[in-house]
Amino acid sequence: MNPVTQKLLKITDTTAKKLEKLGLNTPWEVVLHLPIRYEDETHITPIADAPLGVSCQVEGEVEFQEVQFKPRRQLVVRIRDAAGSRLFLRFIHFYPSHQKQMAEGRRIRALGEIKHGFFGSEMIHPKIRDAESGGLAESLTPVYPTVNGLSQPVLRRTIATALQEVPLHDSLPDAMLQSLKLPHLAESLHLLHAPPPEMTIHRLSDGALPAWQRLKFDELLAQQLSMRLARQKRLEGHAPVLRGDGSLSQRLLAALPFRLTGAQQRVLAEIAADMCQPHPMHRLLQGDVGSGKTIVAALSALSAVEAGYQVAVMAPTEILAEQHFLKFSQWFEPLGIKVDWFSGSLRKKAKDGAKAALAAGETRIAIGTHALFQDDVAFARLGLVIVDEQHRFGVAQRLALKNKGQDVHQLMMSATPIPRTLAMSFFADLDVSVIDELPPNRTAVKTRLVNSVRRAQVEGLVLNTCQKGQQVYWVCPLIEESEALQLQTAVDTQLQLQQSLPDLSIGLLHGRMKAAEKADVMADFSAGKLDVLVATTVIEVGVDVPNASLMVIEHAERMGLAQLHQLRGRVGRGAAVSSCVLLFSEPLSELAKARLKVIYEHTDGFEIARQDLNIRGPGEFLGARQSGVPMLRFADLEEDMALLEKARDWAPKLIEERPDVVEAHLNRWLGSREQYLGV
Ligand code: ADP
Ligand code: MG
Repeated sequence: MNPVTQKLLKITDTTAKKLEKLGLNTPWEVVLHLPIRYEDETHITPIADAPLGVSCQVEGEVEFQEVQFKPRRQLVVRIRDAAGSRLFLRFIHFYPSHQKQMAEGRRIRALGEIKHGFFGSEMIHPKIRDAESGGLAESLTPVYPTVNGLSQPVLRRTIATALQEVPLHDSLPDAMLQSLKLPHLAESLHLLHAPPPEMTIHRLSDGALPAWQRLKFDELLAQQLSMRLARQKRLEGHAPVLRGDGSLSQRLLAALPFRLTGAQQRVLAEIAADMCQPHPMHRLLQGDVGSGKTIVAALSALSAVEAGYQVAVMAPTEILAEQHFLKFSQWFEPLGIKVDWFSGSLRKKAKDGAKAALAAGETRIAIGTHALFQDDVAFARLGLVIVDEQHRFGVAQRLALKNKGQDVHQLMMSATPIPRTLAMSFFADLDVSVIDELPPNRTAVKTRLVNSVRRAQVEGLVLNTCQKGQQVYWVCPLIEESEALQLQTAVDTQLQLQQSLPDLSIGLLHGRMKAAEKADVMADFSAGKLDVLVATTVIEVGVDVPNASLMVIEHAERMGLAQLHQLRGRVGRGAAVSSCVLLFSEPLSELAKARLKVIYEHTDGFEIARQDLNIRGPGEFLGARQSGVPMLRFADLEEDMALLEKARDWAPKLIEERPDVVEAHLNRWLGSREQYLGV
């Protein structure tokens, strides 16, 4: 925080540091730090009338105080109000000062929620005030999000100062506000920070309150404006025109053992049209697991190669990168096109050789994990970047990628559909192509939920399947706490299965194996030399062995829906009837039950993702916690759909007619975070 701001807000260095921790660096950001809730200290509720589960303030005389030790050390206080009703107050954390404040005979106020506990009616950790010294508050008390060591009174004082000092002129024109029926920003902020006496908690906590609507709208508008500007900037940028002559793709198509589906042909045309533009493509190719995205990517890559450019193909895991490498090599080498593999685990010498061939332009297609985008990997003529399972990359990685490929076309692929609201907001600068048809002759996968006590039966099914000449995946339980334990479990599972099924050949695949070892095991499984592949969830994405017709997933209750759907999508790719056995262990949590029900009842990835979003909420969906995407603070995408639509309507008008407004609004709302939004 700069010294001028600090002086303006009249705060100490320590407070300034704490505010920075909250992401508050400018007076404006302080003003936009809004209460998460309010406390009502304006009146006293008789204990007998206090509603359950709602915060309220009661007042009474302490008649009893004791430190108890069962079930754990705690301070227990009982008060009695003017009407003679009694209430217990309980504190797990307390200091001698609390005991003094609540000494027997003192009159105190307690603010909190009344619950029916072990002792009868009680409040746990209420906020205590001395009733003898202070009067009642005149208006509701705002409670702000804070960090350790920054108290509510200090925050309140600082925000009140900021509200006085910051010029609160409106960034939006009056006519616009009138047509939207929204109040001024200054008015809204004053109301929310310092509610007038007649305001009730009920009204203030309602998102439909005009003051909240105004803030939500401003936030959504800032998002829409920045997305549109990012798009505009992209369309003004330059990228090579990649118009293939079809010479190579015709040969590849002729060599394929199948014909493209109508959906595949349609999305290919959409991608080709983008790649012929002189500005960078930014397209997402969506299609359920098994819908055949890889061949679409390969044919798009061929157009770039035909036009004389190089292609980078990036996958989130080594094993998936490797699978792509094998597939692409198999398709492209007969055409005389050099495909190379870049992985973090390559030896230095091999890596140097690969880098040199890439820099010289000999290698036309480079496949790898994010190792591909390390600083020292240079392309001679990069024209197209393909990112598989793009949702699995963090924002930072996507930023790096974007900077590397400033003027190249980008094709992203994902099996996870983006819900409409997210598509309209966070991913607004993304054109989407959808493969909405599976290749023919896919057999529906039969899903079965089996209690793990019946594991022996499932082993019988494994034997049966293999005796028919088909193959089986057996997915080990997920152990998030420890990688060492995860490894041990995988090893044990393989041993144990091998003992129960001595006639089968059973391989093992896990994350800690060297890339070359993994490749060998996968190759053996693909070639049918292994009957069963015991694997950790490394096989979750992209692995493709059509002869595998049974998938067993242990402790399915520990896995997320997207993961289960991806895993299940590994079978049902060949002619044989396939099934997926989800082994679960009791007891099941409510969440686990809900997830298993969804995966049992649905096979459509879009529907599963929708239900997943319902269960988890969009924050989790975006992976915001790990990736640091600035989430919306005030607006809620589902709830505020109408506002989102209005913001979307206004954004182009403002950009067209009022660049001054756009600039002022974005400065206020985004500041330095702007660059992240276009990612
Ligand atoms: P995903 O979309 O999950 O990445 P893949 O690209 O791995 O799916 O394709 C799954 C399987 O379907 C592969 O074995 C692929 O060769 C096959 N496939 C792709 N397109 C077709 C098609 N049009 N007809 C038949 N099989 C196809
Ligand atoms: Mg794939």
